[in-house]
Amino acid sequence: MRYLTIEQREALGAHIDGRAGALRDQIATALKQPGNSETMHLANHLAEIDDDAVADLETSLDIAAIERGLAELRALEGARERLHGPEFGVCVDCENEIPYRRLMANLGAIRCVACQEHFERTHANRRAGSI
Ligand SMILES: [Zn+2]
Repeated sequence: MRYLTIEQREALGAHIDGRAGALRDQIATALKQPGNSETMHLANHLAEIDDDAVADLETSLDIAAIERGLAELRALEGARERLHGPEFGVCVDCENEIPYRRLMANLGAIRCVACQEHFERTHANRRAGSI
C-alpha cells in the first residue's frame, strides 16, 4: 500500500528534519542550562524523581519538557526511517491510510485519528495506575 506521492514524502521528510533539528537544539540547550547541573545527570535524576516527592519543581518541569522532547524526537526518527517504506502513512492498528494533513500536523503519527483516540482512551491511565 503506497498512497503518498514521492513529493508528499519528501515534504514530510523536510518537515521531520527541521523539527528534529529544532528539538535536538532545545534539548541540548536545556541540558546545558547554567545553574541546572542536575539535568547533566538526567538519567540519575529521573530515577530520583520517582522516589523523591520534594524534587525541585523547576527542575522537574525542565525534565518533563526534556522527556517530551526526547519522546517526540524518537517518534520523528522512527517516521524518518519508515518514510519511504510501504507502511509509512498507514495506521498501525486498522491499516487505513492516515490523511496527509494529519501526518503534516503530527509528523510522528502512526495511527489514524480514530485509532489514536481509542489508544489514548485505553492507555490513558496506565502510568498513573501502575504504581
Ligand atoms: Zn486506524
